[in-house]
Amino acid sequence: MNIFSQLADLKGIVVDLLFPVWCVCCGKKGSYICPSCYSLFVQLLPPLCPKCGRPQPDNIICTRCINEQAEINGIRSPFQFEGLLRQAIHQLKYRNLRALATPMARFLHEFLINNPLPGDTLVPVPLHQKRIRERGYNQSNLLARELGKLTNLPVISDCLIRKRYAPSQAKTATANQRYSNVADAFYCQDNRLKDKQILLIDDVSTSGATLNACAAALKAAGVTTVWGLVLAREI
Ligand SMILES: [Zn+2]
Ligand SMILES: [Zn+2]
Repeated sequence: MNIFSQLADLKGIVVDLLFPVWCVCCGKKGSYICPSCYSLFVQLLPPLCPKCGRPQPDNIICTRCINEQAEINGIRSPFQFEGLLRQAIHQLKYRNLRALATPMARFLHEFLINNPLPGDTLVPVPLHQKRIRERGYNQSNLLARELGKLTNLPVISDCLIRKRYAPSQAKTATANQRYSNVADAFYCQDNRLKDKQILLIDDVSTSGATLNACAAALKAAGVTTVWGLVLAREI
């Protein structure tokens, strides 16, 4: 072993000591999400409702979507919101583990390569200013930024604004409550997104109400299409 490879080894050891990385799901050293935990994430595979992206026999539009007349063109997600991924997203969202946005955006990128969606601009689902002050960051914005680097798509995070401070979606019980919570909660503060095809980025979609309210605000501002792309979907 020559002096250079010894130095390289030493550098690796020092980096590991100073910046240890471990799997947020199982604690194994080496990566934020280790390959064996990743393999346990539950993929959302076809047949899916073409609109909301939930599993649905024969790829036909589900009864919920027929009755809803949603503004959003559709929602897609690589994974179901459950188990280990739910745990990992919690770390990204509430435990200040911002570095998780990098591997998570990579999962979104891989999904997009295999399941292309129309989109020329990335827009993260905004948080209210008050919540950004509480949390210090918007996890959707982190995901969109990282995905922007991978896809070379522009990210516009300061046009769509959340004007109402609603209780956390996780704490509100029914889908109907979620809808009334977020209806009219968003607006576009200028016309920069006019005629654009938007990929709306979020970590999780539960009822789809937030994405749909964002889509309504974007379309009111002249956006052509809005597809929601989320890391995990509650089904
Ligand atoms: Zn693991
Ligand atoms: Zn549906």
